[in-house]
Amino acid sequence: MIEFKNVSKLYESGNKQVKAVDNVSLHIEKGQICVFLGPSGCGKTTLLRMVNRLIPISNGSIFIDGKDISKLNPIELRRSIGYVIQQVGLFPNMTIEENISVVPNLLGWDRAKIKKRYNELMEMVGLDPEEYRKRFPWELSGGQQQRIGVARALAADPPVMLMDEPFGALDPLIRERLQNEFLRIQENVKKTILFVSHDIDEAIRLADKIAIFKSGQLMQHGTPDEILSNPKNDFVRDFVGSDRELKRLTLFTVKDLISKIDHFQKRTTRNDYHDFVVKVNTDLRTTLSVVLSSPTGNAWVVDEKDRRIGLLSLDDFEIVTDIHTKKLKPIVNQG
Ligand code: ADP
Ligand code: MG
Repeated sequence: MIEFKNVSKLYESGNKQVKAVDNVSLHIEKGQICVFLGPSGCGKTTLLRMVNRLIPISNGSIFIDGKDISKLNPIELRRSIGYVIQQVGLFPNMTIEENISVVPNLLGWDRAKIKKRYNELMEMVGLDPEEYRKRFPWELSGGQQQRIGVARALAADPPVMLMDEPFGALDPLIRERLQNEFLRIQENVKKTILFVSHDIDEAIRLADKIAIFKSGQLMQHGTPDEILSNPKNDFVRDFVGSDRELKRLTLFTVKDLISKIDHFQKRTTRNDYHDFVVKVNTDLRTTLSVVLSSPTGNAWVVDEKDRRIGLLSLDDFEIVTDIHTKKLKPIVNQG
């Protein structure tokens, strides 16, 4: 859906040249979230802003749905792409409703349609439409402003969204809540999203695919599981961190693990009563800490209605990761 073909960006600063993006080729599928990950200055923002032509490309081409963006009208291109940045960029002298309605207004929608869309978007981002309609951005908390930023970017239902560290300035709890809300929204809207982050945990949580960059060069492009279990080089290995085995466990739930265990249900016959319990939808990193803190070395798995369905033990984690050799095993079939 979005294709980067040998894209480079050279900045001229004084008599010096900076190669901010260096021959990047990358394909992003429709309806997926690709996270651009890497340290500060590796070229993530530059790469993103070339997609909506806020920054001109030095070499190479970018295609959206097969169309070369250099052949499109930049104003129309920008209206068809949602853009969210860290500093939100809400217009301070406009009400929340006016802010969200900017692009629909530019597109000439009628009043009733714009109003309906405003209500819809506010519901989507979890804010009461009436309560905020006439308020101004400065009356809102950072988290609320960021929600408005996301709503505004989604207003005209663009197929593509560019998000540049949108939750980066929020404190960790609010950030995690917005990440989860964002995933819930994406489940319904299925946009093609380029999301910039320097935070490996955020990338793991949000990405269908991660693209890791170093000094403008693409180091690795793959699913979070592929990146964590098979870092391509030392740079990627260092960047994801020495606890990558543990991080990888956050990608899977108890349900994924017990689907690989034969006769898991039969384990309920064991007479091993204790209170260490995990729900089937708990992630495996959390589950591992429960199992490790249990004196018997195991924990009951319960379903959504708290019915005990089987007993999980530490040994079962060998299905995901070989504790002795630290070799990681694929738990789900790569589709
Ligand atoms: P990131 O978003 O990953 O932090 P950027 O894309 O902002 O990285 O920057 C990549 C590199 O390009 C950095 O070395 C930065 O200093 C340089 N750079 C960015 N914008 C400009 C500019 N307008 N002029 C000159 N150099 C720039
Ligand atoms: Mg940046």
